[in-house]
Amino acid sequence: MYIRKRYKKNLYLDMEEKKFGDRNNQGNYIPKRRVSYPPVFVWPLAPFQALKWIFSIPGYFLPWNLFYVGIGLISWFALSPPLEDYANLTIITFALVFMKNSGLVLIFYGAFHYRLYIQRAQDIDFKYNPKWPLENSKNFLFGNQTKDNIFLTFCSGVLIWTCFEICILWFAANGYLRLISLDESMLYFIAMILLIHLWRDLHFYLIHRLIHFEPLYKWAHKTHHRNINPGPWSGLAMHPVEHVFYFSCALLYLFFPFHPAFIIVTLVHAGLSPAPGHAGFERVKTDKEKSFDIDSYAHYLHHKYFECNYADGILPLDRWFGTLHDGSEESFNKMRARLAKKNQKKFRAKTLS
Ligand SMILES: [Zn+2]
Ligand SMILES: [Zn+2]
Repeated sequence: MYIRKRYKKNLYLDMEEKKFGDRNNQGNYIPKRRVSYPPVFVWPLAPFQALKWIFSIPGYFLPWNLFYVGIGLISWFALSPPLEDYANLTIITFALVFMKNSGLVLIFYGAFHYRLYIQRAQDIDFKYNPKWPLENSKNFLFGNQTKDNIFLTFCSGVLIWTCFEICILWFAANGYLRLISLDESMLYFIAMILLIHLWRDLHFYLIHRLIHFEPLYKWAHKTHHRNINPGPWSGLAMHPVEHVFYFSCALLYLFFPFHPAFIIVTLVHAGLSPAPGHAGFERVKTDKEKSFDIDSYAHYLHHKYFECNYADGILPLDRWFGTLHDGSEESFNKMRARLAKKNQKKFRAKTLS
């Protein structure tokens, strides 16, 4: 009620927020910038623009890609037990790896949540949905969206992530998989590490389309979609079956000679990147007149409307397959027409059977 009044009376005057978007009558924040893709997978080719984008900020490397690569490398080279320890697994190795991954999640997700949802340091400036997450709803475990999300994140998400990590490294430590050494294959190492982002984008799109297939959606993915108004902890709040699909991105390396760091960087990317992607805010403010983009609008629209923006990254898969919602009214109308057609087909199939 308070929020509606605030917008209807046009009392909302934050200049930084207005610079990047506007609010509709319901108080929802609509960014001016449309969801778009970098000039890489375009026809005709645009090699100069592509190169410029790769090395600019924001671009392919900076800020997020190199951040996850850096955390992944620290996680393997400084925080993980040596590879030999994975050959004969003990409960201590499992506990150490689980605590390492839990620590990363707690710090990263916790930082977004603390700043935006506990301190409420920028109130609802840049928050897409002006309401805060539900604290008394029977849709969520413990009747609370954030507590439900945190429970699923650690008790299923980090646990399944850790199982993937330990199982693959067990096979590697016991000599069942082909490993490379850093001294002999430095270039291959760097190239593979830098391509992880692309592989993750493709894998996420494929499994996401798969779990929107109705039986799988009802069984597993609807747990994640209870978060219509997401917050950082919604990112890894999934059904265990979805976690198995989601972290299976690390299995790619079974088909190539690899370094253990590839597995860890891939899993760290999968484990941490959902936090900004689900923050529920367009930008994070660092002071009254400064803010940075966290690139979360495309996936926010997916949580709001379900049937659009299945991909979340730099591959223009939604554009290619006709499911892109760029935030414009035109996109919204296209999505509505697509859904009406789909429902008509379903209705016809039901009445004919
Ligand atoms: Zn999501
Ligand atoms: Zn989905």
